[in-house]
Amino acid sequence: MSKRDLSKLNDRLLAEKKRLEAERSRLNDRSGSGGSDTELSDYDTNHPADMGSELFDREKDLALVENVNSLLDQVNGALAKIAADTYGVCDGCGGRIPEARLRALTYATMCVSCQSRFED
Ligand SMILES: [Zn+2]
Repeated sequence: MSKRDLSKLNDRLLAEKKRLEAERSRLNDRSGSGGSDTELSDYDTNHPADMGSELFDREKDLALVENVNSLLDQVNGALAKIAADTYGVCDGCGGRIPEARLRALTYATMCVSCQSRFED
């Protein structure tokens, strides 16, 4: 991969990082508000199902935060690899990660076969 491609990639990763950090603070704000923005009227208390769905929303938010955190880890990992000039080298086997994979998944740190072994 050329230096120009790498610096373009670096920019894309930085933009992605910014987006993810914004997303994370947005999610944290929402789940940290304690639901003060939801007014409990008589209508709501007569509908326990609404409470359930609010709880579900919070669990969903937590899952989203976890997901964002793991993506951030990967993005940071890729940025560190670019800085260390090891971008595109598989963390698992030390081989080259195919460029097509890197284009599809800029923060990939493993080749497909190592990734699938890792996830098993
Ligand atoms: Zn590998």
